[in-house]
Amino acid sequence: MMKLSVVVPCYNEEAVIDQFDAKTRSVLDTLPIEYEICYVDDGSRDKTLLHLRALADRHPDATRYVSFSRNFGKEAGMLAGLREATGDAVVIMDADLQHPPELIGQMLELYQLGHDQIIARRTREGDKKVRSALSRIYYRAVNKWVDVELTDGVGDFRMLSRPAVDALLSLGEYNRFSKGLFSWIGFDTVTFDYQNAQREAGETKWKFGSLLNYGMDGLISFNNKPLRLAIWLGVLLAGVGAAYALWITVAAIAYGVSTPGYVTLVAIIVGLGGVQMVMLGLIGEYIGRIYYETKRRPHFLVKEAHGFPGKPEGVER
Ligand code: UDP
Ligand code: MG
Repeated sequence: MMKLSVVVPCYNEEAVIDQFDAKTRSVLDTLPIEYEICYVDDGSRDKTLLHLRALADRHPDATRYVSFSRNFGKEAGMLAGLREATGDAVVIMDADLQHPPELIGQMLELYQLGHDQIIARRTREGDKKVRSALSRIYYRAVNKWVDVELTDGVGDFRMLSRPAVDALLSLGEYNRFSKGLFSWIGFDTVTFDYQNAQREAGETKWKFGSLLNYGMDGLISFNNKPLRLAIWLGVLLAGVGAAYALWITVAAIAYGVSTPGYVTLVAIIVGLGGVQMVMLGLIGEYIGRIYYETKRRPHFLVKEAHGFPGKPEGVER
């Protein structure tokens, strides 16, 4: 019988985790498969870990968890879950029930048709208008720029075949931008839409600032086109400068020397200074990434684990 692993990164999800577990298990029990749920406690500060221990006690065979020594972020959580998953296929889900477990059946059917990545894409219904508009603009821009295709509404909710999981795990980079990685590995991919759902309980971990940072990651993680842009912008500005110098010379010869306002000068200096700062920051951003990659630090540290064959419980790694 085929085995399915459900990977669930959790950060401060005490309010919803039991509900998630019950609902997901009730769906999985109806399917003709074996399954395991792999929780990753991403250094929660609330009682999430206590809930996970209790869940593991209640369903010792079909529950596993790892708990991080601190909050390493959802990307690290997903990576840990994918590493620990033993199934023939893996589903990645949020703990807040925004990813309806009922869809797993539909995903499974598509998996059995031979697809490797089965993506559930949410509509943006019920989202804040401003946020969905900004997202749309962002994705349009990113897709012009980035080599991998990113789609609005496509998140981490998806089923992956074993080959796709192994492909993802073979990418060892420190800065993990999953949306890009999923798309980069390719494989036979299908997407279907589902009705957007709001979080059942607890609150979102995304602040506006972290969204901006995430957006920046999307632009920079997958190519060096922004550096290319810097070159073209430099060429353009140099061209404009040369043309202006030529015009001044011609005008001086034709109409005599005039004294143009200093406002123009200040505007040009400030403008160019700004452009240079941005480009310097851009280069710094790439260098910062190289810095992190060269350190080769682990993506996460585990303080407690349960249910890993061959490894004692609570093992420190
Ligand atoms: N999450 C995590 N580590 C973090 C932040 C979030 O593991 O540092 C998990 C969180 O517990 C949830 C999922 O990632 O299961 C999605 O988070 P959230 O619901 O806050 O994001 P949103 O749905 O608002 O995009
Ligand atoms: Mg959520």
